[in-house]
Parts: sequence; C-alpha cells; structure tokens
Amino acid sequence: MVRAERVHKSFGLVEVLRGIDLEVRNGEVFCLVGPSGSGKSTFLRCINHLEKINAGRLWVDGRLVGYRQKGDKLYEMREREVAQQRRDIGMVFQRFNLFPHMTALENVMEAPVQVKGKSRREARESAERLLERVGLADRMRNYPAQLSGGQQQRVAIARALAMEPKLMLFDEPTSALDPELVGEVLDVMRQLAEDGMTMIVVTHEMGFAREVGDSLVFMDAGVVVEAGSPREVLTNPRHERTRAFLSKVL
Ligand code: ADP
Ligand code: MG
Repeated sequence: MVRAERVHKSFGLVEVLRGIDLEVRNGEVFCLVGPSGSGKSTFLRCINHLEKINAGRLWVDGRLVGYRQKGDKLYEMREREVAQQRRDIGMVFQRFNLFPHMTALENVMEAPVQVKGKSRREARESAERLLERVGLADRMRNYPAQLSGGQQQRVAIARALAMEPKLMLFDEPTSALDPELVGEVLDVMRQLAEDGMTMIVVTHEMGFAREVGDSLVFMDAGVVVEAGSPREVLTNPRHERTRAFLSKVL
C-alpha cells in the first residue's frame, strides 16, 4: 500500500527526512514511533501531499505520489490527479479539526457531498452508519463544542472514513486527549484494524502498538533506526537509541 525508497525532505537547510525506506502492506497496522522532532509527522504529510519530498520515491497503492512516470521520465501530477490521489487517503490529526459550526453529522457528510458529489440523502445515510460505527449514534446532532475530546476525535475518524479511503493515517490521535478518553478512540481504531483497514499510526501508545500493530518502525533524527514486529522491537530492541526511547515511554 505504501512504499518509500530513500525519501528525503528538507526545510531550508534542515534535513528532516534523511533517506526513509519502508513498506506498508495492504491491510496492515503499521506503527511509527520515535522522539519528538524525528520526522514522523513530516513523513505522513509527504504521503498525503501536504509536503513534497526532495529526493527518493514514494508510492501509495502502486502509484507514485505526486508524479506520473512515462518511460524513464517523471512528470509532476496535475492538480486534479493530486486531488484524486488524496481522496484515497484519510488523515486524523492530534487536534480534531472539526468544523465548529457544523453538527457531527454535517461534519461527516461534508466531504462526500462537496468533493464526491454525493446526494445529501446518500451522504446522510452513510454518515449515520459511520457515526454508529464509532459509537456516536446518540450524538449526531451535537456540535463539536458539545462533545468531549474523545467524541470529537471519533467524529474526525468517521469523517475521514466517509471518503472511503484505502489508507488511513493517524498522527498521534490520542495525544491531545485526557487520559480517561484515550481508550474509546483506541477501541475505534482497533475495530477499524479488525475490519481490514490499512493504517499508519504515529503513537506513543505502546500497548496499542503491541496488541494491534503488525509492524513497528522506530524513527530517530529522520532515519529508520529499527523495524520489525511490535513484539520484537518493544521487548527486544536491538539499538541503544530505541532502548533509550522506550525506557521513557513504556
Ligand atoms: P515529529 O512528528 O516526529 O515530532 P516533525 O515531522 O513534526 O517531527 O518535525 C521534524 C522536524 O522538522 C522538526 O525539527 C520540525 O521543527 C521540523 N519541521 C517540521 N515542519 C516544518 C516546516 N514546515 N518548516 C520548517 N521546519 C519544519
Ligand atoms: Mg508529529
């Protein structure tokens, strides 16, 4: 579903991604962990066209991100193609970013109507199903300000799912939540994983990574330091940097 080969990304003179190689298989839960500033968010943002890589190759679902290949030449994608590629990718951020003037239901309906051109009726029906799926059947008519952080984040997940993505990116989805609200969001993510969604999850929730993750990559200073099954990496880290990080978060 995702393949990165020697991906580099700089901001000015600062090289934030320094040759990332990794592969995310279809249907897997891929956990990305590492200290703050190691480039995790930047990497997710590159997958989702929010940033452009400077070197290397990045593919999503077998297609180069942002480029078309003809023979051995690369051409930048047109805006339309970029938009199309982005539609297949759902993203959930640390901050929920819901539209404050819309109810939960309207938040989930918005993109299918505006971007996909679905009828309001069709969009409403699928939004209702999605909100039920994230446990918010009784909150559909509430505005974000009337919802807890955990409920808002579940609306944000339903909103991303409404575009029927092939891949979901989660960037520290529980980091902004009060501790007692973390579990309800992780439960929704666990359910999504069981339903077969391909997910890249940046998280400090090592319990989730161990129980739900299929692979785990530890990143530091823009490189992949260590990769393997969550069990392997978490119980038997091979690198000193991984050990030092885990001793702080476990
Ligand atoms: P992480 O998500 O692992 O904490 P980030 O990808 O957010 O790391 O950031 C990696 C580094 O890139 C940090 O040093 C950050 O300050 C820098 N950075 C991220 N985005 C930008 C930007 N738009 N402009 C300049 N520097 C940035
Ligand atoms: Mg980040």
